[in-house]
Amino acid sequence: MQPSAAIIGAGPAGAAAAVLLARAGWRTTLLESRPFPRIKVCGECISPAATPQLHRLLPPEHLRRLGAVPVSTFSLHLHQPSSTRTLSWHMPAPTWALSRGTLDLALTTLARDAGAVIAQPATVRAVHYHADHVALTTADGHTLTADLVIHADGVGRHDAPPAPPAPPAPTPTPSRPGVLGLKCHLRPPTPFTDLAMHALPAGAGYLGTVPIEDNLVTVALVARTSALEPFGNDFDAALTALWPGFDPAWRLAAASPWVACGVAASGYRPPGHLRSFRIGNAAAAVEPVGGEGIGNALWAAETLTGLLTAAAPLSCASLTAAQHALARAYRARVRVRRPACRTLAEVLMRPRLLGALWPLLQAAGTADRAPHAQPAPGAPWVMAPWWHLLGKAGG
Ligand SMILES: Cc1cc2nc3c(=O)[nH]c(=O)nc-3n(C[C@H](O)[C@H](O)[C@H](O)COP(=O)(O)OP(=O)(O)OC[C@H]3O[C@@H](n4cnc5c(N)ncnc54)[C@H](O)[C@@H]3O)c2cc1C
Repeated sequence: MQPSAAIIGAGPAGAAAAVLLARAGWRTTLLESRPFPRIKVCGECISPAATPQLHRLLPPEHLRRLGAVPVSTFSLHLHQPSSTRTLSWHMPAPTWALSRGTLDLALTTLARDAGAVIAQPATVRAVHYHADHVALTTADGHTLTADLVIHADGVGRHDAPPAPPAPPAPTPTPSRPGVLGLKCHLRPPTPFTDLAMHALPAGAGYLGTVPIEDNLVTVALVARTSALEPFGNDFDAALTALWPGFDPAWRLAAASPWVACGVAASGYRPPGHLRSFRIGNAAAAVEPVGGEGIGNALWAAETLTGLLTAAAPLSCASLTAAQHALARAYRARVRVRRPACRTLAEVLMRPRLLGALWPLLQAAGTADRAPHAQPAPGAPWVMAPWWHLLGKAGG
């Protein structure tokens, strides 16, 4: 009989793993606590470093049918008391932008079509580990058994307790203290026509916008909670202060609420049991400034699926080998991405520092007069090394 897997979480990591394992003939159950489509804190740009993995699941024509937008320009804005300065670059490779509501639903539908059982809404409350199987308990009291469990829950809360003397507590993905991630959808009166990702350092934070399907624009913001405190829960007021071009009516027209969450950050965290695997944010999280999270999730799903299908029939030795190979691949994947994205985030959170670096960037960018005008090609030497560093140029 084919092996079985229970996957916790139908974000890009879990849903993609469910598609690939089900296609490989595994008996696959995907458990997701929220009904889809749902709004999720995310900048909604998929790194070109994962375009091959994305296209193997959702080919370009499928993405276009879903309304995904190929973003080809990156614009950096710097607001100063007297003026706003803008620099733009053509991206070495386009990056797809699509709402998480649409993306996660599309991947989950593919998983169902491939033969996976989708349990939704179903919240996993506990995982019990045995020598030859795992048993998951859901909030409504059901129990599911499988050969192994894949934690793709973004937080990794239901992992095996680590062996003594470490504290026998679950180990959720740590979030950066004092920092909040926020997101909403906007509908400007005239759609953004420049197919550009815009980034803006915004006093103790940074924000990004990108056009997505249905003429909507995603705005995602990472900010220190101390900078948000004066605004209470009025995130429109916060955004108006941080982004002078923002009009709160754009958000109301899109009927999108603000959603907020912590900003996960961690190196690779191995699971605590041979029959437990982590992928996506549950395994490792990179600062969201680089737009690497979804890409890492898709890459991890494909990498793990390849290792598991090669490990069948499952044995202690083959599972151990898969665990070690995943850990090696993950550590290599985040070795450069984590410090690079963290450094960029720290620069963007300091508008003065960015102002000091501006002349250097200016030598390599294209100055725009209008904030959303189509740029002429900028010199490639700012974007290209960054994209090579993060593996984006190969997409
Ligand atoms: C402000 C911000 C902006 C970002 N911008 C980008 C960007 O532009 N591009 C990009 O690539 N990444 C971005 N990211 C990161 C990206 O959102 C994450 O890396 C990505 O969502 C991780 O995917 P995942 O599948 O691992 O987890 P998630 O997307 O978090 O999915 C986990 C799923 O598990 C479910 N779940 C949790 N617990 C349980 C349970 N007990 N039982 C059942 N289901 C459960 C959840 O409901 C959820 O659907 C951003 C993040 C932030 C905070």
